[in-house]
Amino acid sequence: MENQTGLFHATIVAGGAEARRNKGLELAQRLVCSGSHPPCGVCRNCRKAAQGIHPDIRFVTEFMRKEDVGVAIKIDPIRALRNDTIIRPNEADRKVYLIEDAQNLNLNAQNALLKVLEEGPPYAAFLLLCDRAGALLETIRSRCTVELVEEDPQSAYTPEALGFARVISGGTELDRVKYLTAMEQKKPDRFALEAFLADVERLCQDAVLASVTGRYSVPELASLVQALPRDKLLSLAEAARQGQTMTAFHVPAGHLLGWFGLQLSL
Ligand SMILES: [Zn+2]
Repeated sequence: MENQTGLFHATIVAGGAEARRNKGLELAQRLVCSGSHPPCGVCRNCRKAAQGIHPDIRFVTEFMRKEDVGVAIKIDPIRALRNDTIIRPNEADRKVYLIEDAQNLNLNAQNALLKVLEEGPPYAAFLLLCDRAGALLETIRSRCTVELVEEDPQSAYTPEALGFARVISGGTELDRVKYLTAMEQKKPDRFALEAFLADVERLCQDAVLASVTGRYSVPELASLVQALPRDKLLSLAEAARQGQTMTAFHVPAGHLLGWFGLQLSL
């Protein structure tokens, strides 16, 4: 799967919007570079890439309707992108597709993209830029190398973990059960569960830290500190850590979330 430039066919770049875009553009330049140490920065390909005018670097937004940009990536632009992969590169050895905001790919689009990753020509390379790799299907992730870049403070936690923090700060026990049941019904795979629990662990630890420093990067941290004593936050972080270990043993989501819910009321 690895090609002569030392880069894989498909890479996920996960992290904050600006950091992932910069990294994506750097990787794209490296892929089209014709110098001996890519990206050399001086060859014709590098210079065109830096100016944003390289014909073999394509963005998914070029295939999208304007009103969908930044909102949802549906199946049509992915089909159009697949058709474009049939056309060989113009100037470079590789043809690079940047899929910005890949977390916005809907399920149909992800499945279509999976086919492109599996069957695309060897000269095609795909860079999937997203806020977190967990937003993509496991089948896609397993075909990609993953590069993590710096996160935006707002997207430092998954929406599921932030929602959970709000429920345990303000909700009743019934609300917690409802929340975890709703999560279970979405049939999360073990990577999604692991990501959720890792974020709950971090949220609890960050809340303890924030109670000392007084710096709350998201409002949920302040709510946690107000609602729960320090030792409760620490024991919750510990339970979330144990839960992550359990995901490795393929404990069914229902059992795992049920067990985790029980730790909350102890
Ligand atoms: Zn170059």
